[in-house]
Amino acid sequence: MTNASSDTERNIFFDVDYTLLGVDGSLRPLAREILQRLVDDGHQLYIWSGNGIRWRDIRKHDLQSLVIDCIEKPVSDYVNAVAIMNVKPDLVVDDDLEIVAALGGVWARTYYFPNSRDTGMEDIYQVIQEWAQHGLSDDPQFRAPSRSL
Ligand SMILES: [Mg+2]
Repeated sequence: MTNASSDTERNIFFDVDYTLLGVDGSLRPLAREILQRLVDDGHQLYIWSGNGIRWRDIRKHDLQSLVIDCIEKPVSDYVNAVAIMNVKPDLVVDDDLEIVAALGGVWARTYYFPNSRDTGMEDIYQVIQEWAQHGLSDDPQFRAPSRSL
């Protein structure tokens, strides 16, 4: 087991493109509300992207008060890349299955075209909540971490 099931702080790392933002840069429905809920639940939220440090997008959507930091996401060799980072994810949320499978987290349904009826953020929240309570989730979108950091 990792410390994910303990009461210690939990670092959740969110991807940006097609996880929180659509192709036109618009915010996924309920993204702000769910991020707020996660903060209220005691999680520490980080934003990372393979396309640079995304404070501009985060500020544009007024999410900066919910986010501890924006950092660069490794684009390959995830486990080794994370091993040398100061702050490490306990859980990643990403539409890219490869990084979720490598680090553990929630495989987000790709949010590409703006869609006001998208419920992806609610689904992500349910999985995170289950993981936070039980250390794992039966949801098919969940991947347990395969590393010990
Ligand atoms: Mg993405």
